Amino acid sequence: MYNCCVEITGSQAWFYVFNQVFEADENLNFDQYLNEFAINYGPLQQKFFLEFWFLNGDTIAADEYWRRGNNRELINTGEEETSTYNYKGECTEINTPWDVFYESIYAEQFETYSIIFYKYYQHLHQSLRESIETGGNVDIDQNQALDKSFVDEFKQLELLGLPTAFGRYQKNFKTHIYEEKKSEQIYSGFFSDEDIDCSDMDVEDEINLTEKTKHGIKKVIGKKKKNRKLRNVPEFLLETKGMLKYWRKRFSLFSRYDEGIRLDCESWFSVTPEKIAIHLANRLQCDIIIDAFCGCGGNSIQFAKTCKHVISIDIDPVKLSMAKHNADIYGVSDKIDFICGDFLQMSRSGRFRSNVVFLSPPWGGPKYKREIDYDVESFLQPCSASELMEIAKTISKNVAFYLPRNSCVKQVIKLAGKGNQCELEHNYLDSRLVAITAFYGEGIISTKQR
Ligand code: ADP
Repeated sequence: MYNCCVEITGSQAWFYVFNQVFEADENLNFDQYLNEFAINYGPLQQKFFLEFWFLNGDTIAADEYWRRGNNRELINTGEEETSTYNYKGECTEINTPWDVFYESIYAEQFETYSIIFYKYYQHLHQSLRESIETGGNVDIDQNQALDKSFVDEFKQLELLGLPTAFGRYQKNFKTHIYEEKKSEQIYSGFFSDEDIDCSDMDVEDEINLTEKTKHGIKKVIGKKKKNRKLRNVPEFLLETKGMLKYWRKRFSLFSRYDEGIRLDCESWFSVTPEKIAIHLANRLQCDIIIDAFCGCGGNSIQFAKTCKHVISIDIDPVKLSMAKHNADIYGVSDKIDFICGDFLQMSRSGRFRSNVVFLSPPWGGPKYKREIDYDVESFLQPCSASELMEIAKTISKNVAFYLPRNSCVKQVIKLAGKGNQCELEHNYLDSRLVAITAFYGEGIISTKQR
């Protein structure tokens, strides 16, 4: 039994979560799963996007309108009601600046969503490809079905009466998609190597050179590079080539980074980005949660906001003191017990009880990206995924596992144990797959679509 649904967090349009629920049955037919996915690709993509737009579209458009310097009050002029698009695709003439703006935001969102949805399909395809290879020509059939869906995509929009004035979007979108398809490197991560490596000391900002026209309007006449010294960058990030890209993403890790967040070298590439930590905390809200490998506290801080009590464990006292310091900055340290020790030994003592156990064990540093299929049974530390699962289940039936994006999905599903279910989440941030989160236990698997 399987299921596919898409969840998107509130108004955070750039953070997408794709979910599937699987039963850990040895006879689970992945070929069939992928085949059905490919055949229904177009309608699924459409359905999920329209659901998303119905829930969040107006807020996103209004926020963007305001953020780009427009007057918020203009948004709700009476005119808008007679000429806006609704999720059913009912569309009337565009005649106000707001309508034009609304349409452009819709098109932007649709483009991003389409790209991410395609990547999601690719990632799933890649991680289940073993079964495809043994399953004959399914691969070819799937891609044919997919190609067809791209060709039909805008026709479908037209039929639905949705905005189709995607002239420039359509062109870019298609180019992008086909480039993606050619790309051999399927796993491009949040901190992927495609990122610009700015390991030199200066950041160059492009600034516009302008001159005033006789009507007093500023006109861009050229561009000039401006050097800005990097300030307050931790020494170790400057010393190691390729590490500055992590620093550039500091606010994605902790939005309050500038208030004095502390991270050691390892944590820069292993801490959970804040938007994902917030999403997980919302999903896992309960009375008591154990964060078994808490590191510098990215997850624990967010758990403290949604759970009554958090038990944060780490074997490294330095990381634990950083976690406490960081939790203080977010004003939540009084809700967290910080315990220094080996999770494996402590759990064997039988002293712990909690509603949920969250496992974010060491992935083995950034080299995990080199694997096409990350073997969760041999590469995770301090022990295999199944041993960790066995230990966690002595504390609670509800276990969430935060894993590398290239984890072998079949192994992850198997962890549920025969006949049990597992929910897989693909977490995308800014169109990059950051990680996979697997949920086990009836208390935390979402049942709404089954
Ligand atoms: P990686 O960068 O390889 O993913 P992490 O930094 O994410 O590693 O590791 C997660 C945390 O797990 C680290 O803070 C580490 O100190 C902690 N840790 C490792 N082994 C144990 C253990 N046996 N018990 C508790 N914490 C551990």
